[in-house]
Amino acid sequence: MRCRKCGEKAAINMRHHRLALCKEHYLDWFIAQTERFIQKYKMFTHQERILVAVSGGKDSLALWDVLHRLEYQADGLYLGLGIDEGVNYSDESRQMCEIFAAERSLTLHTIDIQENYGNSIPGIVEKLHRVQKKPCSVCGLAKRHELNRIAHEQGYDALVTGHNLDDEVAVLFANTLNWSAEHLVRQEPVLPGTSGFTRKAKPFCRFYERETAAYALLRNIEYIYEECPYSSGSTTLAYKEMWNQLENQKPGTKLNYYLSFIHAKEKGLFAWTQAEKLQGLNVCPGCGQPTTSAGLCTFCRTVQQAAAV
Ligand code: SF4
Ligand SMILES: [Zn+2]
Ligand SMILES: [Zn+2]
Repeated sequence: MRCRKCGEKAAINMRHHRLALCKEHYLDWFIAQTERFIQKYKMFTHQERILVAVSGGKDSLALWDVLHRLEYQADGLYLGLGIDEGVNYSDESRQMCEIFAAERSLTLHTIDIQENYGNSIPGIVEKLHRVQKKPCSVCGLAKRHELNRIAHEQGYDALVTGHNLDDEVAVLFANTLNWSAEHLVRQEPVLPGTSGFTRKAKPFCRFYERETAAYALLRNIEYIYEECPYSSGSTTLAYKEMWNQLENQKPGTKLNYYLSFIHAKEKGLFAWTQAEKLQGLNVCPGCGQPTTSAGLCTFCRTVQQAAAV
């Protein structure tokens, strides 16, 4: 297989785009596409301050690398979840982020959940449930809360994450299985900010996972290869495997599924109703973030209950 631009040996073949490229032209293409998506969906500008949520994995570090090369003002934020499971997952992933930032003289904020709230994520789950239970729902809740808190407190204009097409397709599929209107409305390449919530953007949402992996490998980015130990056996992983089979049979299926959804939204389907737009939120007395609850937000309540055990 030869590169379409220069005829050299191709480093990657993207069947869904009918495009094969060598290392040099692939890296150029990947960066130019990212810039195109940022502009197309009006995610953020060069004048704004961006906070990249980094986990030490390939997607988030590749995203930070691309934004840095495109000369955006992008700082990183690492959340220490306290996940060990015998493989030092959190320690190693934090180290990857620290090395990445130090090599490029970039600013990395680090927040440790245990230091801030008295318990690690698995610790909170253990105290609240006292049985072996996956910590994913509490983990997701903490990530959303803490990423938004830091972005808001530190005055960033946008919070960006490295979600790729495979992630978006798995979420979209889960949401369409039960036609969860509330979640379909919120699934966007860019979610505008509201008072108390920082704008959220996903510049990699149109890249296949193997494309972000290829970028990280070809750029020699060191990242943690292991997935979080709690991710094995998850429903999301099962959906991803199923979608990989569909994609193998018909290249482009994932991209088509996601883009058709985005186009439908652009035409007004799955949109906020006027009533939803006007629905007011309360302010959590614990952390000051907006919440639908009348008292403490779910995160503050969870942390407080665990601390009381
Ligand atoms: S798989 Fe790991 S990182 Fe992901 S939500 Fe679950 S506990 Fe958190
Ligand atoms: Zn080439
Ligand atoms: Zn709160």
